[in-house]
Amino acid sequence: MRAALVTLYVAAALVAATCAVLSWRRRQRGPLASSLALITAGAAEWSLAEAVAAAAGSPSTGLAATYAMFPGVAMLVAGFLWHTAVFTGRPITRRGLLLVHPALLMAAVVSDPWHHLFFSAVDAHPDGGVTVQFGPLYWLHTAYCYTVIAAGFVRAVAAMRRAVRGHRQVFVLFLAGALAPLAGNGLSIFTGLTDRQVDLTPALFLVTATVWLWAERFGTPARRTPVAYEQVIAALSDAVMVLDPDGRVLDVNPAAAAMLASLGHVPDGAVVGRRWFEVVGPQLTAAFGGGNAQQTLTDGGTTYDVRVVRMRNADGSTPGAVVVVRDVTELERLRAELTDQAVRDGLTGVYNRRHLTTTLREQAGEGPLAVVMLDVDHFKSINDTYGHAVGDQVLIRLAQELGTAVGDTGTVARYGGEEFAIILPGAGARTAADLAEQWRDRSAGATVATARGPLRVTFSAGVAELAAGADVEDLLRRADRALYAAKEQGRNRVVTDVSLSTV
Ligand code: GH3
Ligand code: MG
Ligand code: MG
Repeated sequence: MRAALVTLYVAAALVAATCAVLSWRRRQRGPLASSLALITAGAAEWSLAEAVAAAAGSPSTGLAATYAMFPGVAMLVAGFLWHTAVFTGRPITRRGLLLVHPALLMAAVVSDPWHHLFFSAVDAHPDGGVTVQFGPLYWLHTAYCYTVIAAGFVRAVAAMRRAVRGHRQVFVLFLAGALAPLAGNGLSIFTGLTDRQVDLTPALFLVTATVWLWAERFGTPARRTPVAYEQVIAALSDAVMVLDPDGRVLDVNPAAAAMLASLGHVPDGAVVGRRWFEVVGPQLTAAFGGGNAQQTLTDGGTTYDVRVVRMRNADGSTPGAVVVVRDVTELERLRAELTDQAVRDGLTGVYNRRHLTTTLREQAGEGPLAVVMLDVDHFKSINDTYGHAVGDQVLIRLAQELGTAVGDTGTVARYGGEEFAIILPGAGARTAADLAEQWRDRSAGATVATARGPLRVTFSAGVAELAAGADVEDLLRRADRALYAAKEQGRNRVVTDVSLSTV
């Protein structure tokens, strides 16, 4: 038993000393290496003293070795405090404070033979070992140690809660690593494994050191480094404002300061402490409703995307809101432009065929309507004679005229190359045919100026009326058939589909 213990302590001391040297050599490379070196050096010293105590052949050696454990203990505790502070992102600024406990502990230990306040009694065993009774100073020291450890745990848990979700496992590892020696120490102080004190704490600190070393070396510092939220928010081009529950501005990022200054509601630019509606004006105030909201608001020609996110504490209380404002004027303009482009014909600017069929389907469900399908006469020869560019001009001009003539009463679309279709909601075949006749008449009477002199363009048209219950494909087919008939009959005319009256 004794030989096994000595071997265990010596092995632990060797491993701990190796860890200490390795950590110390890495001290320039990571912020946690120095404290880890102190912890493992403490564990090495303590283990070594435990080894000597276990091997002691006389009570005086045993007692001296027992006292000799405390420099290691002091190093461990100071190292733990230091390590936890760095690990949880709140480094100790006055490192000199770390020396207070070791100094007092050493003074208490060295002077113990005179006052016996540290060890109140020492029981010597015939084989040279000693068992000590703990005195008030020992308990004071132990209370301090456990306070430090408890504070470390509290800090680590708090840091874990602050951390981004993906960083949390490093803290779990950290806490788990600290538990092994804690359990061992509690066991040895309060129970005593045998009649002889066997304290496995220094050996168990190796578990801690291994886990923490792993966390330090492989737990990638980036994952442990909290994202620098302040800098991220300062760098955002979105305006970020933090408001208290009454809507008072608590903080703004530079983008928000610039935006609020440009709004000009607060002339001196001092926005912190003012009410939200004072600094943004009535339009944007509308966004600050009850709950979380996202709204697009326009104020003085500028469009803003305003997001209000209510902050929430763990206890459910709301400490205020975060308001993120983005100027989306240009984005909205582009979006409107794109939406418009998607439904228009590139050459003539009237609607395209896809939009025509969509509109037709929508309007067919709403009541009677008629469709005029028209096609330019002899367009190929216009192209051939005057050139493609003039052909294009003819199409643009015709589209314009149709657009003006139809206005709000219908939808003009380019159906194909030189074919247009017009939807006339609410119109019957006769009305539509009358209108088409007017357009045809005007077109036939006008000329397009070309380099080769004035050009007269005519078109033919087919008119069809939506039959109750009929589908729009059928309607378009009938209009097209009527158009074909108009071509057949000599062009420059309007023909109405009569299939309805014959059915
Ligand atoms: P019809 O009176 O029978 O309609 O005779 P057409 O010459 O108009 O006959 P068709 O419909 O076959 O000819 C259409 C021509 O329109 C063929 C094509 O080259 C021309 N075209 C189609 N799209 C465009 C365009 O965007 N610009 C120009 N300039 N020509 C086009
Ligand atoms: Mg054609
Ligand atoms: Mg044609």
